[in-house]
Amino acid sequence: ASSSPFLNPSARSRPGDLAIVLLARDSYQPITLEQSTGAVDGYVEGKVLNTRFGSFPHSTFLDVPWGSQIRASHVDTGSRGRKRKLEASGEDTSTPGADDEAKDSEAGSQLTRKAASAPSGFVHILKPSPELWTSALPHRTQVVYTPDYSYILSRIRARPGTRIIEAGAGSGSFTHASVRAVYNGLPQKPEDKKGKVFSFEFNEDRYHKMQDEIVEHKLADMVHLTHRDVYGEGFLVEGKSPEATAIFLDLPAPWKALKHISRRRPQTDGETPKPDDGNWISPLDPKKSVHICTFSPCIEQVMRTVTELRRLGWVDVDMVEVAHKRINVLREKVGLNLPNKKGCNLTPANVTESIDRLKEINEKTKDFNNAQKEKDGDAMAVDPKDSGKANRQGNGKEEEDEKPWAQGRVVHRPEGELKTHTSYLVFAVLPREWSEEDEAAASARWPCGK
Ligand code: SAM
Repeated sequence: ASSSPFLNPSARSRPGDLAIVLLARDSYQPITLEQSTGAVDGYVEGKVLNTRFGSFPHSTFLDVPWGSQIRASHVDTGSRGRKRKLEASGEDTSTPGADDEAKDSEAGSQLTRKAASAPSGFVHILKPSPELWTSALPHRTQVVYTPDYSYILSRIRARPGTRIIEAGAGSGSFTHASVRAVYNGLPQKPEDKKGKVFSFEFNEDRYHKMQDEIVEHKLADMVHLTHRDVYGEGFLVEGKSPEATAIFLDLPAPWKALKHISRRRPQTDGETPKPDDGNWISPLDPKKSVHICTFSPCIEQVMRTVTELRRLGWVDVDMVEVAHKRINVLREKVGLNLPNKKGCNLTPANVTESIDRLKEINEKTKDFNNAQKEKDGDAMAVDPKDSGKANRQGNGKEEEDEKPWAQGRVVHRPEGELKTHTSYLVFAVLPREWSEEDEAAASARWPCGK
């Protein structure tokens, strides 16, 4: 079984593990956990994650169940690598500098004595998954997001044992999702072990960064990355066929690569495929149909891809756009049980009173939200033991004491700011080849009419 944290994570966090730190909603920081080396000569050595919610020595993230909430350190961690001497009495009471962005400071940052005004925020430590990696990864390019890749992987029939060709690798978002699809970590059957991702990237810098990530994430057995211009050089790996049955092309001009994903020798554009002379190696599994998806933002690119797919004998060509929306479900107090100024819930006797009260509540809510935003940028910075205050109603009653129906009507709204168009997905199938020998073998196995 693989030791990759994406495929077989440990039950608790360990030194050397990749962890995703949840800072706030939709704000993640990937870190590799490091063991501290203990107190040496008045200093406590160890890596520290400095965030706007406080400082978190890696030691506080270790040996906890994934998903745990971790409180900020109450000691000055000397963010940005500043060294301060551990002291018995409180001369230096300065607080650690909270960075705008989370930063894993250099190894050797020092923990010092208790700082009276150290921030008391918290974060959560999460087990890596392809979905979280997509949200946390360092963007080197546009990436494919979860709503698209989950649909793509099902349409190209990615499952344990499938061999996938992917180009270009870019930031590795699709790579991480596809490796989990083709290698489920606990192979059941021998053929499950054949699952592999053959990834291609022609930008040298991105290729090296991606290769480092694959090794760091312990995925090197399951992902083979090649530095290559696939338009010119195709998809063989060290001269051999990857024997792929699933293809994903996220390239500026996917039609230029299609001639290589063929069962025949590559043709120059516009030529009809000729029978192979026997010397050409196809990157495809000769005994299985092949499913492809190409990912293009413009309809003009789609049209060129579709034309080329048809020319090369692909069938079942269709195009899909995934219009993903996140929907918020909440309770809204419209014309129902509005708390009056004395704090009692009432059903308003007349519409005017109801509207006036609603305006007042809206104003107060806006003021509260703005003050909150200014204060710390996010509700995550609120100390959990104070968070009950934010949940209290204007009437001083705890939310949980109130009947759910009295909290308002359930409404749902799509989040407006989400962009819905990422790209058009073109799908197609290349049927398996069927020779005289295949027909003879099939007839021998299932004799007709006998
Ligand atoms: N699918 C990737 C992900 O989810 O992170 C993002 C891919 S990015 C949009 C496109 C990548 O294709 C870029 O990194 C680019 O360098 C690479 N690329 C462009 N032309 C290429 C070619 N001819 N051969 C190989 N890679 C190419």
